[in-house]
Amino acid sequence: MKYECDVIEDLLPLYQDGACTNATKRAVEEHLAECPKCTELFSKIKDMSIDEMILKEKENVIGTQSKYFKRKSALAGSIVGGIFALPILICLIVNLVTGHGLSWFFLVLAAMLIPTSLFVVPLMAPKNRMFLTMISLTASIILLIAVCCIYSKGNWFFVAAPAVLFGLTVCFAPFIACRRPVNAYLKNRKGLAVMCADTVTFLLMMLGIGVYAYYPGIFAEMFCTSTLFLLMAWTLFLIIRYLPANGLVKAGVCIASLSVMSYFSNEALNWLTAKHLEDGAVLVMSQPSLALMLTCVGIGAVFTGIGLLVKWIGGKK
Ligand SMILES: [Zn+2]
Repeated sequence: MKYECDVIEDLLPLYQDGACTNATKRAVEEHLAECPKCTELFSKIKDMSIDEMILKEKENVIGTQSKYFKRKSALAGSIVGGIFALPILICLIVNLVTGHGLSWFFLVLAAMLIPTSLFVVPLMAPKNRMFLTMISLTASIILLIAVCCIYSKGNWFFVAAPAVLFGLTVCFAPFIACRRPVNAYLKNRKGLAVMCADTVTFLLMMLGIGVYAYYPGIFAEMFCTSTLFLLMAWTLFLIIRYLPANGLVKAGVCIASLSVMSYFSNEALNWLTAKHLEDGAVLVMSQPSLALMLTCVGIGAVFTGIGLLVKWIGGKK
């Protein structure tokens, strides 16, 4: 052979792209005719190039289609936004003509922001559509509550707004946590972050209710009750998320622990409130019967047993 394989290997990509002189082309072809090793390498380079070409073409097609749909959806968003702007404009004109101030206008404006955030934001947002829709929907609902509260001269904003915030956090936070790219630390703690957000908004809601319906001792009562129910929610979360067992075992442990907690919740509440309430008053909740609690523990034990059996059989196989 005229040339070393190493030299030909370096030339193969140029030969494949047709970016070499006729002399080099001839040299490579002569070498390939005699050397099976370089022939095999060349066929690999050819295959790889075809794959790359297909991939590039695919990306091009997807890119063009995506741009097309983005343009169409932005157009649809502008049309829907224009339709939603009509009642706002009419209300503004009527308000100004009748000289009744702009109170109704702000009410209609705030109300129209809700369908806008539901229909226009997802059509027009360039990316993070779900996240932006949920955030704008939450903000527009809270704005509407604020406007209604101001308009009716009410003092219930700090009860209604945190309650809405808590409800929306419970519904939306899991979806946001799933879709949003998060940093490495949060990646495996998304559930924990959602539970923390739920807890904070729940406590905010309780604070709002406490301030609204204030009487001496209300915060101690509310703190005790909240703690108990939060404890139940967190217990379920920790079992489901962190117990290293299969679904059946987790279900069994959840049923058993929840029934035991419910059974003792009355005693726990009384103990907690007696410690915190000055007049020694106790809260009374309806207590589940002992028979019901034991039945539930039994059901939980059955689930756990089946789960452990399934795991044992799986391990044997
Ligand atoms: Zn060779």
